[in-house]
Amino acid sequence: MQLNRLLQSVINVAQGEFPQGVFTPPRRIPPPGEAPAVFEHLRALQALADRYGDRAAGTRGYEAAAQYVEQQLAAAGCRSTRQHFSFKDSGRTIETFNILAETDAGRADHVVMIGGHLDGVPGAPAINDNGSGVAAVLEAAKALGGRTDLVNRVRFAFWGAEEFSKSYGSRHYVKDLAKNSKEELSRIAAYLNFDMIASPNPIFAVYDARDSDTDNDITPGSTRIMDLLTGYFDSRNLPWTTTDWDYDSDQVAFVKRGVAAGGLYTGDDEKKSNSEARLFGGAAKQPCDPNYHDVGDDIRNVDIPTLRLMTDAIIDVTTRLAEDPRIR
Ligand SMILES: [Zn+2]
Repeated sequence: MQLNRLLQSVINVAQGEFPQGVFTPPRRIPPPGEAPAVFEHLRALQALADRYGDRAAGTRGYEAAAQYVEQQLAAAGCRSTRQHFSFKDSGRTIETFNILAETDAGRADHVVMIGGHLDGVPGAPAINDNGSGVAAVLEAAKALGGRTDLVNRVRFAFWGAEEFSKSYGSRHYVKDLAKNSKEELSRIAAYLNFDMIASPNPIFAVYDARDSDTDNDITPGSTRIMDLLTGYFDSRNLPWTTTDWDYDSDQVAFVKRGVAAGGLYTGDDEKKSNSEARLFGGAAKQPCDPNYHDVGDDIRNVDIPTLRLMTDAIIDVTTRLAEDPRIR
């Protein structure tokens, strides 16, 4: 087995299969039945990328990925809706949409929301960024969609057009609520964001509930979310670190409107530090994800144990929040 694997990587190198600068050979893709359930969503998204090239906002690939997500949500027992919006990019108007779904069970005035962006950069399979977040949120929908005993409602968001510098989908969602339904916005007790959670040279990062510039809590309730996430890693004797809450993604729009927020992240093209390598293993001074926003962000270049761990953490913490009668 080990020898076979070694042989295969030698063959891969000989065939020039892995892009320059990648610090490890692409991983073996496990056959169906051998991989965790969450990985099967990545397999499906990769198949769509092979067919359509990418799933950038406004493309056929995005539409196909959206249909896949909607089918999965329906199978999980969650009705979903599309929220359409448009934005301008380099002078052209792009029409796209978010997908929103929620559990039947739970108080509608206490909503726990989790999400990640469904679109990817043009020309890339976008499997770690952000097929991984999408896959984990789908698994959480599968775990919670059929529950009839939830205290709080859980809402699942798949954002459109995050990759256009302004996280358009989540901004549209929050702005629309702030303008048309402040009450509905105030019912969102927490928003948890997942953007890149299967990096091949990973760190396990939790969004910092404290702003590193002001040293203030970002929003009331965010520390609680952070404690739940770090508590999950502590309970498994696993290391964790923090990342600034305001890195470009879909949590920012929520925090700016005062919503409690948190999330997980395993790193982009920033290099892993020596201390992070001591903490998490892997290669120091190498990017956490050398294929970030590149054509190599495919199914061979994700770390499956990391994806599984992050998914377990997400389901655990989302379930705790959904079962918590004191959430507000
Ligand atoms: Zn992303």
